[in-house]
This record gives sequence, structure tokens and C-alpha cells, in this order.
Amino acid sequence: MAVTTALHESSYMNSQAFKFREEGNYPEAERHQLLAVQLCERAIGPNSTTTATSWNNLGEVYILMDRLDDAEKYLRKALKVREASNEVFDASVSRENLARVYECRGDLQEARAIRWLGAPDKIACGNYKCIRETLKRKELMKCGNCKSIFYCSAPCQKVDWKRHKKYCRKDAA
Ligand SMILES: [Zn+2]
Ligand SMILES: [Zn+2]
Repeated sequence: MAVTTALHESSYMNSQAFKFREEGNYPEAERHQLLAVQLCERAIGPNSTTTATSWNNLGEVYILMDRLDDAEKYLRKALKVREASNEVFDASVSRENLARVYECRGDLQEARAIRWLGAPDKIACGNYKCIRETLKRKELMKCGNCKSIFYCSAPCQKVDWKRHKKYCRKDAA
């Protein structure tokens, strides 16, 4: 398959995976995301930021499926490529995702340490749908209870609380 065709197919599989994810159909999201990954790996190889995006998205699906070891494997691969590139915001997103893996495991100290790797100015807002770019240390609000997750604003903290409250413990970090 020609490279452009493969990338076109892969971006279609990515968007299908997002659609199934929104519907809560995680097995189909995984299947389409895996196809996107395979197409990228074959067409452009493991050092491309496009491949890294497919890995990152697959990691996000595995977090939703509570398959934390699989999530960690793909998020670490994505993070490595993204950190080596100039895609600063994408790297901060993969760090935030990796921190969430540790949050789900109940290790809030490690979650905080991973988020803090983005300091002083490359930390993602803990609200997944936040439109802000990466945050500077002095702009950060942290969760006052566990002190292990950071937000750009009170509204973003409120949005993420639905998710974060399952893991938050007082002064865990
Ligand atoms: Zn935000
Ligand atoms: Zn908290």
C-alpha cells in the first residue's frame, strides 16, 4: 500500500475509534485503534509523531478498558517519540495519560511525579477536554486534597472531578 493511502486509512481508523469510544463501545474502539497503529507502523515506522499519536490514542482506550499495563506500554512509546520531537503539547498529553495509569493503580505519588516532569512550563491541564496549551508552574492550581493533579482553572477542576474523585485521597503525594 502506498504511504499516502496507508496514512489516509489510518486517519479514518483513528476517527472511527474515537466514535466508538464516545459511544462507550471500547472493544470496537480498540479494534479500530489497533488497525490505525498497524497501518502507521508499516507505512512510516516507529519514530514518526503520527505513529506516536496512534499509540497515545490506543493507550487512552486501554485506560478506559482498565487494561493498565497495555495502556502504559503504548503511552511510554508515544511519550518517548513525542518528547524527542518538538510536539510539546502532545508530549504533555501523553505524560498526563501516563500519570492517569498510576492514578488508576492508586499510586498518586508516582502520578504526581510524572506530571511534574513537565515542570516548569509543560504541564497539561488535568481536564482532558481543556482547550488550553501547556501550563506554567505558577499558573497551576492543584487538587487541594491529594495535591497530585493540576488544573488551569476551577471550572476545569470541576469537570474532571467526576473522574478524579474515584482516586483522590488526602495528601497522598
Ligand atoms: Zn484547563
Ligand atoms: Zn485529588
